[in-house]
Amino acid sequence: VFVGAGGGALPLLQKSGMSEVKGFGGFPVSGEWLRTNKSDLTSAHHAKVYGLPPMGAPPMSMPHLDTRVINGKDWLLFGPFAGWSPKFLKNGKVTDLPLSVKPNNLASMIGVGLTELPLLKYLIGELLQSPEDRVDTLRKFAPTAVSNDWEIDIAGQRVQVIRRDSKKLGVLEFGTTVLAAADGSIAGLLGASPGASTAVPAMLEVMQRCFDDRYPGWEPKLKEMVPSLGSKLSTEPRLFQEVWDHGTRVLGLDGRTGAV
Ligand SMILES: Cc1cc2nc3c(=O)[nH]c(=O)nc-3n(C[C@H](O)[C@H](O)[C@H](O)COP(=O)(O)OP(=O)(O)OC[C@H]3O[C@@H](n4cnc5c(N)ncnc54)[C@H](O)[C@@H]3O)c2cc1C
Repeated sequence: VFVGAGGGALPLLQKSGMSEVKGFGGFPVSGEWLRTNKSDLTSAHHAKVYGLPPMGAPPMSMPHLDTRVINGKDWLLFGPFAGWSPKFLKNGKVTDLPLSVKPNNLASMIGVGLTELPLLKYLIGELLQSPEDRVDTLRKFAPTAVSNDWEIDIAGQRVQVIRRDSKKLGVLEFGTTVLAAADGSIAGLLGASPGASTAVPAMLEVMQRCFDDRYPGWEPKLKEMVPSLGSKLSTEPRLFQEVWDHGTRVLGLDGRTGAV
């Protein structure tokens, strides 16, 4: 069984009774965007451009201005701005967070509460921002941005992983974690941003951990599909170039990008 239920994964894995989920908790952070579909703006920007997060802000707050095509219509989105809600899913319940606290993860949750004061400060700062403050942040990317062109929309909900820690009781993580039962019968994905970039490595990890007896037989085919499998691209420049060229060709980026 694979549990890929976004913020709903933690409660489902807890319900499954697997011992590997003990000590894990979740901390929900919601997100908001500024968005516009004004054609003079959308036609002038065709990219996803990242900036640097403000000093002391967590990595999930990396501001970006994106082109998104939604139901065939062009949009520009800017954000995310963090918000807070105890829900684990965008349409979840306010009881999601309290009901996820179990005797086995209480210490991890308290540990994070005691050590993550900078995050709390950052979240409060974000919550206090007015719509005009948000457009000011956008102006760092697009200095001519006008408030009337942009509206605020709810972007979604992220559930950051909290795990046990021998020194701090619990730590908050910003990545993705694959949990799998020792007998391979159930696995699931916890964390904030699985997204496109981590979907393939996460699935390969599930295959390896849940089917360790069959995985070696699958490896030749997998290597054909993912030529960099098992290699460290940073130490193999020739393989890196091959993979880069392949990606550039498949994505139709020829002539517009170069290796870095
Ligand atoms: C503000 C924000 C910005 C992001 N930006 C990017 C980005 O630019 N690039 C990127 O790659 N990723 C981005 N992400 C992350 C990306 O959206 C998620 O990683 C991705 O959607 C996760 O996919 P998923 O299938 O694991 O979970 P989800 O998309 O959350 O899907 C889980 C599904 O499971 C369902 N479900 C939950 N519980 C149950 C249950 N008990 N029974 C039945 N169904 C259930 C839910 O209703 C939902 O439909 C962003 C996320 C946020 C919040």
